[in-house]
Amino acid sequence: MQISELYRDGTFGLSVEIFPPRNESGDAELFKTLEELIRYQPAFVSCTYGAGGSTSKRTIELCALIQNQLHNTATAHFTCVNSTREELVEWLQNAFDAGITNIMALRGDPPAGQETFVPADGGLKYANELVTLIREHFPKMGIGVAGYPECHPEASDANVDLTNLKRKVDAGADAIYTQLFFNNEHFYQFRERCSQAGIDRPIIPGIMPITEYRRIQRIMSMCSSEFPADLVGQLEAAQDDLEAQFEIGVEYAIRQCEQLIKEGVPGIHFYVLNRSQACKRIFDALGFPETQENIAT
Ligand SMILES: Cc1cc2nc3c(=O)[nH]c(=O)nc-3n(C[C@H](O)[C@H](O)[C@H](O)COP(=O)(O)OP(=O)(O)OC[C@H]3O[C@@H](n4cnc5c(N)ncnc54)[C@H](O)[C@@H]3O)c2cc1C
Repeated sequence: MQISELYRDGTFGLSVEIFPPRNESGDAELFKTLEELIRYQPAFVSCTYGAGGSTSKRTIELCALIQNQLHNTATAHFTCVNSTREELVEWLQNAFDAGITNIMALRGDPPAGQETFVPADGGLKYANELVTLIREHFPKMGIGVAGYPECHPEASDANVDLTNLKRKVDAGADAIYTQLFFNNEHFYQFRERCSQAGIDRPIIPGIMPITEYRRIQRIMSMCSSEFPADLVGQLEAAQDDLEAQFEIGVEYAIRQCEQLIKEGVPGIHFYVLNRSQACKRIFDALGFPETQENIAT
């Protein structure tokens, strides 16, 4: 289903995000994960676009596989990094020709070793320009954009960041998917500020279940989300017990999602990190129905 239509009639939109694996064993694990998670019939599975454009072709291939073999809608992430306008349009055409009708339109991070984002010669500087480009060439494409409840790290303040988010919406974005967060209060405040700023698109919270403390610490060092002290305390008390860390992470995510659903969110976007175990537990606890039908063909 297209992102533009997804949240319209009040249907809850479950979505899951995966990334292109680096090797064949990663591919096999991902395929297993997808088979398991697609049983919960997510509204779409999104596939990231590697830093620096490193997965340019793979992102389209995986999205095509999700649609053609697993019969689930896919959303392809896409960034402005290292591409001219012409190259961006060419990639979008390839995605469109592969049957992809939803794009997560992003600027991308500065490549490793660079402090600031420098657009390619003849390229785009901000995600709102990418949204405009997509709308110009593919008017019917469903478009998701990124939102930051705790402010994008490069923005001078939250109001400036919100003004820039509104540029993406005004350019034609259909929905906003947030950076991961662990303290729901940040999301509620962000949603309220968006509403006051006239941002009238669905805002879908991004949730990443913690499965391993060390792994999440690495991820947290790259984004500016608060890591609540009670959660850190529990994880540290678990020391090297990986099973205990997993239980703490899953139980925390279940509580977070229950509260978000109670607060009327239109959907939840799960950063699944290509593994199914934690999300399966969460989906079951939240009562998301699972089909027993054979999915893959
Ligand atoms: C849901 C989600 C999915 C993601 N998927 C990927 C992925 O697949 N691949 C990947 O490489 N990265 C991905 N990212 C990370 C993202 O690329 C980075 O966070 C990046 O630093 C910013 O991208 P953006 O699209 O939010 O940029 P923008 O919206 O362009 O914002 C970047 C910065 O510039 C400011 N800004 C924006 N527009 C303007 C303007 N017109 N004038 C002045 N300032 C402006 C903003 O306030 C912000 O500080 C994802 C992030 C999220 C939340």
